[in-house]
Amino acid sequence: FHQYTAKNEPVLEYRRNSNELKQVQKVLDEYKSKVTRVPCIIDGKEFWTEDIQKQVLPFDHKHVLAEYCYADKSLLEKAIERAVKNQPKWDLMPIEQRANIFLKAADLASDLKWRSHLVATTMLGQGKTVFQAEIDAACELIDFWRFNVQHLASAMTYQPISTGDSDNNYQYRGLEGFVAAISPFNFTAIGGHLASAPALMGNTVLWKPSDTATLSNYIVYKILEEAGLPPGIIQFVPSKGVDFGKTITQSPDLAAITFTGSTTTFKTLWKWVAENLDNYRTFPRLIGECGGKNFHLIHPSADLTTVINGTIRSAFEYSGQKCSACSRVYLPRSLSNKFYSQMQNIIKNELRIDTPLKFDTFTSAVIDRNSFNRIRTSIDFARTSPATKILVGGEYDDSVGFYVKPTLIETTDPKNKLMREEIFGPVVTIYVYDDQKFDETVDLVNDTTNYALTGSIFCQDKTILEKTRERLIHTAGNLYLNDKSTGSVVNQQPFGGARLSGTNDKAGGPHYLLRFTSPLTVKNMK
Ligand code: GLU
Repeated sequence: FHQYTAKNEPVLEYRRNSNELKQVQKVLDEYKSKVTRVPCIIDGKEFWTEDIQKQVLPFDHKHVLAEYCYADKSLLEKAIERAVKNQPKWDLMPIEQRANIFLKAADLASDLKWRSHLVATTMLGQGKTVFQAEIDAACELIDFWRFNVQHLASAMTYQPISTGDSDNNYQYRGLEGFVAAISPFNFTAIGGHLASAPALMGNTVLWKPSDTATLSNYIVYKILEEAGLPPGIIQFVPSKGVDFGKTITQSPDLAAITFTGSTTTFKTLWKWVAENLDNYRTFPRLIGECGGKNFHLIHPSADLTTVINGTIRSAFEYSGQKCSACSRVYLPRSLSNKFYSQMQNIIKNELRIDTPLKFDTFTSAVIDRNSFNRIRTSIDFARTSPATKILVGGEYDDSVGFYVKPTLIETTDPKNKLMREEIFGPVVTIYVYDDQKFDETVDLVNDTTNYALTGSIFCQDKTILEKTRERLIHTAGNLYLNDKSTGSVVNQQPFGGARLSGTNDKAGGPHYLLRFTSPLTVKNMK
């Protein structure tokens, strides 16, 4: 694997009458015409518990897509016990062999046979359009698998020097115990990544997929199984968040948690770990990618077309449910009229909001009732609060699916709640500043929230761009210059947030992998 160089997986276009589109449509029809049953999987064995949950279509919530089983505390304890028992042998397996399993999985996922299942279940279960499903469940997942193998080599290059009388060696072990992977609904690839990267490094894993992504994540598991992942390395355990969180943090063998989700939940996990600190055999590592309040900062010199296209895509693709989605905009007064009229025109006339199964849909429903209610509360706040005004959108309707219209809000208060709190929906709030106050506005961008996930500066003046970049060095984990704040590509923009947006270990980079090793130094006398 030292020679292995990965390439980004090409994005399929799913043009009308193309093979790939026909295949996806066939698979969509299959999943639509049945209810798929999903078990817990421990040591490669299926467990069908009686606690049955339903995954529905976000855009048609009466339609049940899958029924899956929740693992209870005792089943989770069993999964932990097996994971801990399986770890040493897996850790001793030559790393090339482990790496080959994930490369094989990437090849399987790249083939239309499995790819169409990944794409179709992500479209149905998570409400993504075919394009959004393709760049996530196919390309990004495949990229994570391949680039993690490539990064192994650079992550593991360090070796100490040997002297006249001793050979010194550095052995990259996995972590003793087990790793808990808790993944989100919004990217199938993130689930695959959180479960696989620790396993690649010699760890065994308990994987709790998000309730609303269970089916697509189960497909990921099936691909790994077909690729030759031995039973009991990744335990697939859908479960209630609090049961999973409490059980793993109460286990003395917890070695690490790798998490993507809300800042609040990540903080809760830290607290539970703190409560159990005296029981552990090691210090658990906590790796997290959390919320954001991502900005588009627009300088008067910005190219307006770039700004508008970027803001529409970042704020409204996948209904703003990417952690990286733009949700606060700083707009100079000189550009505001044109910006508003063009944005309004596009939102009203060009963005089709409909089921993701229609191939010209721009975005569909949000993921579930909780999300719908949370977003609705923010919109209602904007409607009634004196400092905010809804410029376009603001409608919502959950009679069939959890639909929220792309919504543009203006505020006169740069520290308004809607400029500070994560909404995770198709809602963007704009603050208009006086052109001569750009400097103060840069401070506002930096000081308004403790999130620091992504952000963009749009500015054609090279000197100002460079100065602004320097002033915002801690305001994001991923900073984009003259581009939108979403759409990181594995190994092109390693992804992760600073401050309260996470531990910034950068998914898709060597640092991430090293978090899952506990090196052994060996001095061997000659
Ligand atoms: N990497 C994705 C992007 O850049 C976002 C990941 C996430 O939502 O957690 O858009």
